[in-house]
This record gives sequence, structure tokens and C-alpha cells, in this order.
Amino acid sequence: MELTVISGKGGTGKTTIALSLSELAKDVAKADCDVDAPNLYLFHKGIDIKKEVFYGEKKAVINKEICNGCKTCENICRFDAIENGIINSFKCEGCGACVLVCPQNAITLEDYKTANTYITKTKKGVISRADMEIGAEGSGKLITKLRQNIREVTEDNTLIIIDGSPGIGCPVISSITGSDAVLIVTEPTQSGMEDFIRVMELCNHFGILTLVCINKYDINKVMSENIEKFCEENHVHLVGKIPYDDTVIKSINELKPIIYYENSMANKAIRSMWENIKEHINQIKNNF
Ligand code: SF4
Ligand code: SF4
Repeated sequence: MELTVISGKGGTGKTTIALSLSELAKDVAKADCDVDAPNLYLFHKGIDIKKEVFYGEKKAVINKEICNGCKTCENICRFDAIENGIINSFKCEGCGACVLVCPQNAITLEDYKTANTYITKTKKGVISRADMEIGAEGSGKLITKLRQNIREVTEDNTLIIIDGSPGIGCPVISSITGSDAVLIVTEPTQSGMEDFIRVMELCNHFGILTLVCINKYDINKVMSENIEKFCEENHVHLVGKIPYDDTVIKSINELKPIIYYENSMANKAIRSMWENIKEHINQIKNNF
């Protein structure tokens, strides 16, 4: 059973909510698929039980022994990645054009390491995560690998909470495909609403049960009402409205999940949202 938490863009509180839900769930595992900002792991240190090197890209490599210095490759490269017979791996996009034009067959495309992946055991379940190389970008392939990793170490009845990639690009598609449910975290701003609609359309396209949470709903009540109305009209389940709460910042600074701050308004709202989410999850389970 997989629940993926996503948002139309970064900074909406997606990780705070994914973390809180994983604290509230009993039998849980996690996958941190927000690989460019992997913060889910920071709250619980643990022991790595598996580490692998992930080769997510191809880069050109010149065999100096057979290169004759003709510079044909340098002239064809649209990314200015070759200079004086040396390939700048940060600029190389692995397009293969230089391989095709080299008269000496001196260039090959080789696997390039973009991350280490880990399965880490913490006191709150196992987590699948990645540590990106400097300059590398998260890719759909890496997200798929992280999801496969967590499935391999969990039982069928374990709830897997995925902190998905923000946006609507390839990594987020890889974060949600095959999920049983998606929780979209949005905020009450015009851009938040537009991002929410785009990401909701993406979920609809894949036919995934879509739940919605408005974070900091009280910073713009009119916009929150617009989002609520939109959800009603489009038969999307609004499962929670979280108020703005300074304690959230405190909890991030103290690396202590917000649900352990008893008097926090956000804590109370998230707990109540979890009850709503559980009802939807149970319905899915009963339909299996
Ligand atoms: S095209 Fe081939 S032979 Fe010419 S400079 Fe590039 S690597 Fe060397
Ligand atoms: S693979 Fe493409 S981007 Fe990389 S060096 Fe060759 S031509 Fe340039």
C-alpha cells in the first residue's frame, strides 16, 4: 500500500506532512523521492543496511591513445562540453553526437555515477533514500529505483509513505505511477492553486485516488475557499486544512516531528487529517 505525498512546487510543507503521517502510522516504511532536497531522513538517523552506486546517466569518454586531435567532436558538440580533447562531464549531456562523428572511433558513452542509494533502518521503519553526486540531477530512473528498493524490504501490508518530487516533471510521474493514493499538499496562493490543478490533472490522468491538503490555509482564507470549491466541483477529497503555525519552524530547527508538539495547532490538524486519510486507505484495502 503506497501513499505518495506531492506538491506542485517545493516549499509547501510537503516533507513536514509526509514525515508527520509516517510518525502517526503504525507499520510504516518510507521512500524519500525528493532526491534534490532529501530531508525526510534527517529526523531519524539510522543504520544503512544496503548501499549501491546508481549510474543514472551516460557521459562521453575519449580514448587518448587513438584520438588524432582533429577537433571534429569539439565542433559538433552543442553543449560546449569538449575543449582541447578534454570532456567536461558537468556539461556533457550524453547525446552521443561526438561518438557518431569521430573518424577514429575514439569516443564511447560510459555509465556515469549520479548517486548512492541506501536502505536505512531507523527506529521508525526503514527508509529508501539517495545521496546525489554534486551537479547531478534527480531522474525518473532514480525514483523508480528508490521505490523498488523499499518494496523489496517491506511486507505487503506495510504502508509505504513516499515523499515525492515536487513539480510535474519526469521525477514526479515516477513518484506517483503505481501508487495507491496521492496526497497533494497545496497552499492558498494563486500560484499554489495553479500548481495544484496541474498536479491534480496529472493524478487524474493516471487514475490514482487523489487526496488534498491545504497547508497554512488561514494565510489567505478567500483563496482557501476557492481551492475547497474547486475540490468539491471536481470530486477531489479535501482531507485536511492545516493552519499556519510557528511551531513548525521550531520543529524543523529541532529536528523533531511537529506531531510531538502537543499544543501545536498544526499538530492537531495533521492528526485529524490522518484519521481522514486512514478512512480512504481502509476503503482501498477493502476493495482489493
Ligand atoms: S573527433 Fe575523435 S579523433 Fe577527432 S579530436 Fe575528437 S576524439 Fe579525437
Ligand atoms: S555526448 Fe553530446 S554532450 Fe557529450 S560531449 Fe559528446 S556531443 Fe557533447
